[in-house]
Amino acid sequence: MGNIFNISTKPIIIAGPCSVESREQLQKIVGMLHEDSRVGLIRCGVWKPRTRPGGFEGLGEPALKWIAELKKEYANLRVCCEVARPEHVELCLQYDIDAVWFGSRTSVNPFLVGELTEALRGSGLAVMVKNPVTPDTALWIGGIERLQQAGISDIAAIHRGFSTYNNFGYRNNPLWEIPIELKRRMPDVPLLCDPSHISGQRELVASLSQMALDLRFDGLMLECHPNPDEALTDSQQQITPMELKLLLDNLKVRTYDEAGPSDLQRLREQLDVIDSEIMKLLSQRMNISKDIGLIKRAHNMPTFQPQRWQQVLDQQIRNARSLNLNEQFIKDIMEKIHSESLRQQE
Ligand code: PEP
Ligand code: MN
Repeated sequence: MGNIFNISTKPIIIAGPCSVESREQLQKIVGMLHEDSRVGLIRCGVWKPRTRPGGFEGLGEPALKWIAELKKEYANLRVCCEVARPEHVELCLQYDIDAVWFGSRTSVNPFLVGELTEALRGSGLAVMVKNPVTPDTALWIGGIERLQQAGISDIAAIHRGFSTYNNFGYRNNPLWEIPIELKRRMPDVPLLCDPSHISGQRELVASLSQMALDLRFDGLMLECHPNPDEALTDSQQQITPMELKLLLDNLKVRTYDEAGPSDLQRLREQLDVIDSEIMKLLSQRMNISKDIGLIKRAHNMPTFQPQRWQQVLDQQIRNARSLNLNEQFIKDIMEKIHSESLRQQE
């Protein structure tokens, strides 16, 4: 207890079934995963948050008893579970669980996070905070801050993507800029990726895992089941221990100098010059907009003139075409510039 994420060994690998389903299933998966020294922590759900009633909701305390028995059998076995109520935390402590996580439906609720934090205060348990279901960076950071303020320091964040109605191939929308922003603001909190829940499909888990490591994530949480097709929850996204072994064998931890080779540096310097020019031009453009605003006001004209805006847009889209620029990209930029310009004129 107490030193799960405060380590320098990277990547941190957590693997295990979405849910504990029976004593036999648990024994089987733990036996297989414990053999692989790369797996530092075994995940298993014993309380399952289900979207609709009637599904398998986890086995609760009996599953914790089996975990405690296995922890006596295997030296250095470390296990983590999802907690969603203060009573879950008490039970995890009673059965010698090493780490817990807040699921995405829990971290979206500050009341619940507050209650769980109180239950965890002084417990020595390591805690992971999954991103909330909605893409709200501040809410995710807030959950971590609540734990830190309660004196809990063994913390990690887990990126599981964001629930969406339009899932374009993935179960959850990854919106990578959000975990990257969290890492920028909390560089000392290890950031893990959960490619199983992001993808929702076992075929995509390995490539997403590599992508996460390439984006400098500190580790992965992977769902792994002895027989995924028979799993009672998240059957399509779980992988077998053999597939997990293969995934980990092929995972490339790229260590490279952030500055990169000199030809890359030279090109980056050119980009920096161009970006500075763009900033100067934008500033000039906004100054002209302010003057236009004054004239419009003096002549009692509205700030937003749809016809003029259509002309500006059409002209720049034609320009974009002849310069081989992506039309949608230029449309998005022009919309942003135009709305800032209107703001300046107000
Ligand atoms: C889980 O880890 O099994 C789970 C329920 O995840 P999430 O909270 O990301 O939906
Ligand atoms: Mn799951």
